[in-house]
Amino acid sequence: MQDWARELGFSQIGVSGVDLSSCEDGLLQWLQAGFHGSMDYMAAHGLKRARPAELVPGTVSVITARMDYLPAATPADWQAVEWARLERPQEAIISVYDRGRDYHKVLRSRLQKLAERIAQEVGPLGHRAFTDSAPVMEAELARRSGQGWRGKHTLVLNRDAGSTFFLGEIYVDMALPETAPVTAHCGSCSSCIDACPTGAIVAPYRVDARRCISYLTIEHDGSIPLELRPLMANRIYGCDDCQLACPWNKFAQRSPLPDFDVRGAMVGSTLVQLFSWDEATFLRCTEGSPIRRIGHVRWLRNIAVALGNALHATGLGADEQHAIRSALQARAAHDSSVVREHVQWALAQGNA
Ligand code: SF4
Ligand code: SF4
Repeated sequence: MQDWARELGFSQIGVSGVDLSSCEDGLLQWLQAGFHGSMDYMAAHGLKRARPAELVPGTVSVITARMDYLPAATPADWQAVEWARLERPQEAIISVYDRGRDYHKVLRSRLQKLAERIAQEVGPLGHRAFTDSAPVMEAELARRSGQGWRGKHTLVLNRDAGSTFFLGEIYVDMALPETAPVTAHCGSCSSCIDACPTGAIVAPYRVDARRCISYLTIEHDGSIPLELRPLMANRIYGCDDCQLACPWNKFAQRSPLPDFDVRGAMVGSTLVQLFSWDEATFLRCTEGSPIRRIGHVRWLRNIAVALGNALHATGLGADEQHAIRSALQARAAHDSSVVREHVQWALAQGNA
């Protein structure tokens, strides 16, 4: 199975059982604390996440898969390269894993192919593939099946690959031998907790999604809490900081697939350039990209916050300040009240 998986671009596959009952208390506590924010689907699925056979009746095993995502051209000092972007407040930062083709599409079709290949070998196999899907406890399934251990930032970490990989799962109706978990290696490190710009890792292994920039820029609809906006700096889609700070990511791996290669404007563009996209341009430039799913309004909202932060940053010349103000003013009467409100906030940052 490992060879077939590798041919499809996966780095490792494993098998987990379906008894996740020991996670149910933790899941309920996380939901009760409200840490899922406005991701109502998380609460709506409730314990189904911890009960694979309730989600897909007949499931007795879960095949887990891991796919490295660093683009092939990623330099050896990639963490330093990414940190440096924060020193350039006019540059738009899109998280590393969102710069190429939509990983949901890449993984789902390849998981499907893997399931079909396995069925050829073992006979008819009821299966359903998931990736980054709300009703699946994917990090926990990955941990149990030996893909890695849970870091204090809650992502899965692998000794040979750090944390820069996507996870996928295939729920199957055939009992397969389980693969063993690995030991954890965070030790006394707390670099991810210290690096998080918003304090979203409220305790080791506990993330309050409501404070997480990935959640705020991608999942969250509507207004972004005022106190968190300055902390977002120039991150307009996702956040990598807890992973950039992690010492295990010196072992991060490049993808063998071209799908995750960086697309056009997703690296090195200025905030003003990306803010100038009208909806048609946004849709065209994000075709096949995961970014498209947030829509044009959230795109503008996120960039408006970053423009406000750039206006507030030191070292900007008069011309640069003028360009940012003009870009914001051009959106001041936008149809969306969310965009208008964030633009007003951004303009006020120049005076703050
Ligand atoms: S993604 Fe960013 S904001 Fe979210 S927990 Fe990690 S460092 Fe914090
Ligand atoms: S930064 Fe340190 S504590 Fe956080 S996940 Fe990495 S090794 Fe673990």
